[in-house]
Amino acid sequence: VKKRGRNNYLFYAREMNRHASRQLQVINALNMALLEDEFSLVFQPQVRIDNRQVVGAEVLVRWHSSELGMVSPGEFIPVAESAGLIKALDAWVFRHALAQIKQWLAMGVEDLVFAVNLSAASFEDQGLLSALMYELEQYDVPASCIELELTEAIALMDPDSVLKRIKSLRAAGFRVSIDDFGTGYSSMSYLKRFDVDKLKIDKSFIDDLASGEPEDVAIVKAMVQLAKALNIDSIAEGVETEQQWHSLAELGCDQVQGYWCAKPLPAKDFIAFLESWE
Ligand code: C2E
Ligand code: CA
Ligand code: CA
Ligand code: CA
Repeated sequence: VKKRGRNNYLFYAREMNRHASRQLQVINALNMALLEDEFSLVFQPQVRIDNRQVVGAEVLVRWHSSELGMVSPGEFIPVAESAGLIKALDAWVFRHALAQIKQWLAMGVEDLVFAVNLSAASFEDQGLLSALMYELEQYDVPASCIELELTEAIALMDPDSVLKRIKSLRAAGFRVSIDDFGTGYSSMSYLKRFDVDKLKIDKSFIDDLASGEPEDVAIVKAMVQLAKALNIDSIAEGVETEQQWHSLAELGCDQVQGYWCAKPLPAKDFIAFLESWE
């Protein structure tokens, strides 16, 4: 027993080392990626349930590292956050999203809202609003084309300053949504004070919807009702089946995003999608 305990310890120590060295590799490669433009953007459609109209898309980053190959955002976003690189990455994404939107506006693609993820560190930054406004002006894109996705992690900040920030972003014309709703720290009363435009119901709840268990349905129903009571839009993430779409329609959810409509698409495929979606 003793011997096995020691072997286990060695095993964990080795695993931890392996994990730490991979993290270091990712940090180094990320620094280079920001200089070398190794990132690209994909766009995942968001569709209204009642009239099936495409209302916009979420902008998601992809990284093809010359050293490490494809690295998923699920791996490198947390690393970028802990290494202090996330603000630079968010800025890269915002700028390149605007460059793409500018092209689409010139082509006559109108009335779409593009949702960009904003990490808590970017949200907290004193210079955020002026940096965003500067970029909008550079690319000649109106703020009304942009939705900023905030996570519930911002609930750890001082509530008054969160309130002020959200107010000033909305006053500047941005829409604001709460991402991964239900997985974080938000409380109901907090949500009421936030005053956002949209609630994104986390994929984990939508996955459970497929079970048909009354409890799982009740939870999603409660979230949709909450959004309605607060007079904000609800969108379900990670909708993969027609059955989920129908359940959400029945519950009165406003929009969906997920593989059932489309995977996150490169720019030209997104335009092809807009043309083929009826
Ligand atoms: P998220 O914001 O919750 O984004 C949704 C994730 O769910 C995306 O993963 C998307 O590809 C995936 N997804 C969408 N529909 C479906 C579906 O029907 N089935 C399944 N299985 N998955 C679906 P992705 O692109 O790998 O991104 C993972 C996370 O990384 C994002 O979660 C977000 O938190 C973060 N992230 C991605 N791009 C950015 C970015 O530009 N900036 C920041 N700060 N974070 C980002
Ligand atoms: Ca998101
Ligand atoms: Ca999300
Ligand atoms: Ca999610």
